[in-house]
Amino acid sequence: MPPFHRLALLVLSSLLAGIAQAQVPGVDQPQLRELAAQVDTRELRATIEKLVGFGTRHTLSETRSDTRGIGAARRWTQARFSEISAACGRCLEVVTPSKTVTGPRIPQPTEVVNVVAVQRGSGDPNRVILITGHLDSRVSDIMNFTSDAPGANDDASGVAAVIEAARVLSRHRFRATLVYGVLSGEEQGLVGGKILAEYARAQGWQVQANLNNDIIGNSRGQDGVRDNTRVRVFSEGTKAVETQAQANRRRYNGGEVDSPSRNLARMIAGLAERYLTNLRVQMVYRTDRYGRGGDQVAFLDAGFPAVRLTEGHEDYTRQHQDLRVENGIAYGDTIDGVDFDYLAQVTRLNLVAMAAMAQAPAPPAGVTIEGAVSPHTTLRWRSSPGAASYRVWWRNTTDPQWTHSRPVAAAPSDPQTATLHNIVVDNWFFGVSALSADGHESPVVFPGDAGSF
Ligand SMILES: [Zn+2]
Repeated sequence: MPPFHRLALLVLSSLLAGIAQAQVPGVDQPQLRELAAQVDTRELRATIEKLVGFGTRHTLSETRSDTRGIGAARRWTQARFSEISAACGRCLEVVTPSKTVTGPRIPQPTEVVNVVAVQRGSGDPNRVILITGHLDSRVSDIMNFTSDAPGANDDASGVAAVIEAARVLSRHRFRATLVYGVLSGEEQGLVGGKILAEYARAQGWQVQANLNNDIIGNSRGQDGVRDNTRVRVFSEGTKAVETQAQANRRRYNGGEVDSPSRNLARMIAGLAERYLTNLRVQMVYRTDRYGRGGDQVAFLDAGFPAVRLTEGHEDYTRQHQDLRVENGIAYGDTIDGVDFDYLAQVTRLNLVAMAAMAQAPAPPAGVTIEGAVSPHTTLRWRSSPGAASYRVWWRNTTDPQWTHSRPVAAAPSDPQTATLHNIVVDNWFFGVSALSADGHESPVVFPGDAGSF
């Protein structure tokens, strides 16, 4: 087929799938493909089998038994992180941030414990890329903590991705710190997410990104569609922590589709196109699925950029259900509903995104833009530690992805500046990214408070 037709077909199929072609960031990094190839479906399966074997992992369940309940599950997780750490010469610090909590879904004071492994960065250790999944599970009645609640997909799949990311990435060194978070109390009100967000604050971590993986292992939707080629990435449009004054400026000048979380989603979509075969990101311009939530919300509320990764087509007969057969339908979140090859693909995307961001410089800070009543547009920003150069991006205000860009040499002193001649500020959205000497590129930062990381 002539190249033009091939291109046309590609564009057509992308349109049919509702997925915009993403601008691929940075210089091609073959080692990211090698990292992705190290993800092992057998490891993912072993983790989920083990977690399902604890019967229930409900937050209010048994904590003394070594074979059943949330206590056994978190001790196993801690031991697994310790094993991984032993294999990398103690490169992981394993911590268990916890809090005793009561609330609408926690009638008695209950200790909610996260299990978290920290892989300290070599160049920029205060900058943190965080992956999370939740350990706790549930059945139909949110307060039922004794019935079997396998939670194979919700969210042993996310936990399996977190542990596999730790296993593979711990064999390598990165500039930024990688944090692997296995959270508890999600179903009881995002408790573990809040505990980890508070812990991150107390540690002084600059959280650049939280990749929250919740329900990422099923490829057969209740809508009848079987699709193992698409993952949804949910991102908020405007910051949860935006002030009224910031909202007023943003309403006037734009920025309602350019939060740091949204530009994180754009970057992840681009990485999928470059580094993964047969997996594409469907960006969803929402914080989460309609009326639903996840631990990324706790990070957004703390002012940290965060996205949620979830399978493309959910099956609600398998979520939050008592194990039963009704009208010929088998209800419940059992392991036979997990597509391990699909889960491996979503895990690869997480690994690539974490490694790419951790090797890139921090996203530029203090980005400003001017150019009113002028034919030119000027951006200014503060230099990012470790940045060898920058790239200014722009796109039509109605486009989902950055489409145009221009390299900018780093200036010896701040502010860093780029002027785009005869490109009128009124007509485009603009942003800037930072690149390392070896071509790893940060997410794009939209100017002002609306876009700052
Ligand atoms: Zn969940």
